[in-house]
Amino acid sequence: MIKMFDEQFLVGKEVINKIEQYGYQAYFVGGCVRDLLLDNQTKDIDIATSAFPNTIIALFDKVIPLGVEHGTVIVRHKKTSFEVTTFRLEGTYSDQRHPDKVEFIDHINLDLQRRDFTINALAMDKEGKIIDLFNGQEDLNQCLIRSVGDGVERFKEDPLRIIRAIRFASQLGFTIEKKTLSAIQEVKPSLEKIAVERITNELEKLVAGKDINKGIYYLRETGVYRYLPTVRENPNIINKLPDKLEPMESFGEFIALAHFIEPNISVKTWIKQWKNSNRIKNIALNLVDALFYYKKTQTLDSWLIYNLNTNLYHSFIRLVNAIFKDNLLIDENEFMQLVKQLPIKSKKELDIDGNDIIRMFPKRIKGPWIQQVFNQLEKKVVLGNIDNNYEKLKEWIKWNPPEDN
Ligand code: ATP
Ligand code: MG
Repeated sequence: MIKMFDEQFLVGKEVINKIEQYGYQAYFVGGCVRDLLLDNQTKDIDIATSAFPNTIIALFDKVIPLGVEHGTVIVRHKKTSFEVTTFRLEGTYSDQRHPDKVEFIDHINLDLQRRDFTINALAMDKEGKIIDLFNGQEDLNQCLIRSVGDGVERFKEDPLRIIRAIRFASQLGFTIEKKTLSAIQEVKPSLEKIAVERITNELEKLVAGKDINKGIYYLRETGVYRYLPTVRENPNIINKLPDKLEPMESFGEFIALAHFIEPNISVKTWIKQWKNSNRIKNIALNLVDALFYYKKTQTLDSWLIYNLNTNLYHSFIRLVNAIFKDNLLIDENEFMQLVKQLPIKSKKELDIDGNDIIRMFPKRIKGPWIQQVFNQLEKKVVLGNIDNNYEKLKEWIKWNPPEDN
């Protein structure tokens, strides 16, 4: 019996209680049980139930019907979200995204059987009793990722599981069990049929894994990298990756690294082929600018730091320390010291604005010259060449008037 102290589980217990009161079964299931047994903080709690989605919708006040066709709804209870899914059988994945048709069942056993790995096929009732049909707990203890049932069959059913196995190896630091590994070898060409979005989703988690090096190792050793977008056409990239990487905060960080070591492939290409969001793109572009600037100047000047998004400081330091050597390595404390010393943190703090500049030249027609003057001042102030003081800035402009154009 597992003791639940975590607030999320205690609130989840209330959800299960309510479902049971109406005569249905319900269990905690999948990743959250695995994480609880590993003493890892779990992100989201999944509940499997014999009740149909419409029943769940009727039972709870706040329900978001996320994927009713697949049996899933989100129940909001005490400010916590629970993904509640009706017990179901494995469907076929002809579009390689969602099962074609879902068959609901009234017992948890077959629902557990359709799950990918033994460590993910655990369920737990509201008292903390574990249902473990495939020795998932033993595999957890031995740090093994093992397919539920026949690996070859299971990977053929949904080849994304291949990437998922490697993603879990990276996240948990686990080893892929021998037979499961050879099943990966055998079925990997089927990855070609998988929708990019699903692959991206897993890779985003892989590069954030605490054992990312293990993840990369498996991608390399199994040859699975040959079936990834972009890498497929540029297989060499996998050998150019630094040996020791730290877990990344974003896939944008990975793209920045990949573009830095293989500049022939643009960030735009990566983003397009992996169908990443604009957010990821902006992260990658900002990091790439900083990396190339650092490579060129070989110093951490204030202009570099100023132009780097605050949220990306750690990503940048991580990348530099993975890519560069010796005296180019960056110490985090020293870096933060430099951040503190920045004369200004953003354009808004500049003690002069566009209108001030325009007023200095009443006869000039408004145009790009205003921005040019402003940008010059911004850089000079950031680099400490001029004080950020209105009079001093005006003085500088007087002596360096905008060129006619
Ligand atoms: P995370 O903590 O990253 O969310 P997770 O184990 O919850 O890990 P999810 O992708 O959220 O992973 O999936 C939830 C559960 O659904 C898994 O634990 C597994 O039991 C099952 N599952 C998800 N995807 C598949 C799949 N492609 N094939 C079989 N079972 C799957
Ligand atoms: Mg999950």
